[in-house]
Amino acid sequence: MRRSLLPLALIGLLALPMPGAQAAALTDDLQGLSKQQVEDSVEFAFGNALFFLFHEAGHMLVSEFNLPVLGREEDAVDTLSTLLLLEADGDVFDTALTDSVDGWTLSAEASEAAEEEQALWDVHALDRQRAFSMVCMMVGKDAEKFKESADNLEFPEERRKQCVGEYQKARDSWFGVLKPHQQADGQNNKFTITYKKPNNKELQDYADLTKTAKVLDILAELLSGLYKLDDGIKLTAAECGESNAYWSPSEREVTYCYELMQLHTQTVANYFRNGEKSSDDEAEEKTSETKPAPTRVFGTATARQ
Ligand SMILES: [Zn+2]
Repeated sequence: MRRSLLPLALIGLLALPMPGAQAAALTDDLQGLSKQQVEDSVEFAFGNALFFLFHEAGHMLVSEFNLPVLGREEDAVDTLSTLLLLEADGDVFDTALTDSVDGWTLSAEASEAAEEEQALWDVHALDRQRAFSMVCMMVGKDAEKFKESADNLEFPEERRKQCVGEYQKARDSWFGVLKPHQQADGQNNKFTITYKKPNNKELQDYADLTKTAKVLDILAELLSGLYKLDDGIKLTAAECGESNAYWSPSEREVTYCYELMQLHTQTVANYFRNGEKSSDDEAEEKTSETKPAPTRVFGTATARQ
């Protein structure tokens, strides 16, 4: 796949404001982190953004080509998002996958810490299941490369072996139904990419981060020339009022919310701040003023797309 934008995006990420710079909201959220942790946090938010965008692109392909979906669409497009990132076959995309697995795990841990009821009726699988499903595809393709992600989840060895066949079946099924829609060589699609200015000043840093990371451009570049999509599909980053991402069939628009970039950054920053402390640190923390961990991550279970 072509990914000439990636080096540009990565250069942009390295140039991001670090704590101590002007960007107040981001600086505040990353406060107390080491330089490495700041870089890891930004990379984590970037990787999760890619997964969410490819998930929405999955809804887009289903809707634009009227593809059959045998089973729950949310599960199917999670699988497609994982497959597309796996097929992109680059370190950045591999990291996006492992970061997204961690994203679902952190989300589940935050929900459990807040004693939220698990919405078994939701259109999506539970966050931990989404992590396991992703890891199954990943180790199904390359057990060695993604061993650490599987080990972190204590993914059983026996299950990993089954995933080889499941990955192949999923890959052949998805790329089989998409094959008639493949683009002829040399023909590119025209997407309309817009990074909207947020009204909420707290989100400005995250809007800048989203634009600098070129997440919409990367999605467009990876999709363009792959499938016969009619021109004019909108890829938009915007303030939404919730941490989410959407595909609108009527508007033919994928929307990525700045709140999601903010949430992923805050979530992993909180993990770094609170997750790796000794018991002494924890005792001390109770008496000091620290920012509380988010009580809810990734929006509500019902609204998340
Ligand atoms: Zn969805």
